Amino acid sequence: MAKQLYFGNTPVPYTVSWSGEDRIFLGKCPNSKRLSICQESNRGEGKPKFGAPHMVRQREAIAKCLCDLCGKSIRNSTKVSLSQARPQGHAASPFDILQVEPLLHRKCAAICMEWCPSLKDQLATGDLIIRQVRSHGCQFALYSEQGVFEAVGVRKKAVSHAKVHLQKYTVRDLAWLTG
Ligand SMILES: [Zn+2]
Repeated sequence: MAKQLYFGNTPVPYTVSWSGEDRIFLGKCPNSKRLSICQESNRGEGKPKFGAPHMVRQREAIAKCLCDLCGKSIRNSTKVSLSQARPQGHAASPFDILQVEPLLHRKCAAICMEWCPSLKDQLATGDLIIRQVRSHGCQFALYSEQGVFEAVGVRKKAVSHAKVHLQKYTVRDLAWLTG
């Protein structure tokens, strides 16, 4: 089970990549079960790269329903989305949302809001939406041959990141999150 890592006093989300994990390659990912852009795993080595999700842990968190911060299961917990993603008006179900940020425990989402300067900025400008998620699914995004070539130097289509498909949710506020 994932252990919470810190950089100084700052909690480092499970899915954040570290500078000791720079090698990217093509491989069959156990989470997508398909040819995917993979990344070596040395979680905790070097410095955390906030804002740069680890390719494999990002897919793992979404596919296995793990919390973005602590890496533990959120299956039987209140699930929170912190994302700037908006509904896609032209989608088959117009209120559905696709986001690349894994979901969080409510308490972990509150910790992220406390520590992450970009989340604070996004909330202040009204770009960030706090949602309590009641129903969701998992999808995998496919990179074009050109996209994969630019990432790993091989011309093949492959899975890149996973997406959380929000189906039922309630928009909440910071008072609910921290209350
Ligand atoms: Zn958590």
